[in-house]
Amino acid sequence: MQVNVGDSILELVEGDITRQDTDAIVNAANSQLRVGGGVDGAINRAGGPRIQEEARRIGYCPTGQAVITTAGDLPARHVIHAVGPIFQGGDKGEPDLLASAYRESLKLASAHGLASVAFPSLSTGVYGYPVDQAGRVALKTVRDYLTQHPEIKRVRFVLFGQPTFEAYARALQELS
Ligand code: ADP
Repeated sequence: MQVNVGDSILELVEGDITRQDTDAIVNAANSQLRVGGGVDGAINRAGGPRIQEEARRIGYCPTGQAVITTAGDLPARHVIHAVGPIFQGGDKGEPDLLASAYRESLKLASAHGLASVAFPSLSTGVYGYPVDQAGRVALKTVRDYLTQHPEIKRVRFVLFGQPTFEAYARALQELS
């Protein structure tokens, strides 16, 4: 499923983020930039130790921000480590922090001259963000960024499993 945003493409696929050959893939990181489970574990297993070595040198990333490293052995060129919020009911600034994690990731891609970025569904695993709500925030934030930044040609959401894919598909239909 895909939509055009200006000359750029916003697309949804069901799949595994580690297999994407976009210029960057985004990791659902924690502030300590330590290897965890979920997307993070999968990226570090598939990409080898260089990713974690670089992340350890950077050391820390606040919630709502992002940092960039090599992609090690992965097909992508870079990993952007974005820290989404832990969901605590929704009235602790979570939507703004989640939007910020997406926006800051895209800003890093623009700053590094990267034209294609693949995102997982940030915060909807261990961090507990309800996927319908998270999908709406994610897609609106990315759509708005692409409207202003035609240098990013393609953003792909790589959604793990059919329920997550369908939640994002509904959110994209609502938005467009
Ligand atoms: P967070 O800590 O931000 O919640 P998680 O990594 O626990 O991040 O999960 C975020 C989302 O990514 C969940 O929907 C999870 O099912 C999904 N996910 C897990 N592994 C992969 C993968 N290899 N590719 C894409 N998405 C994945």
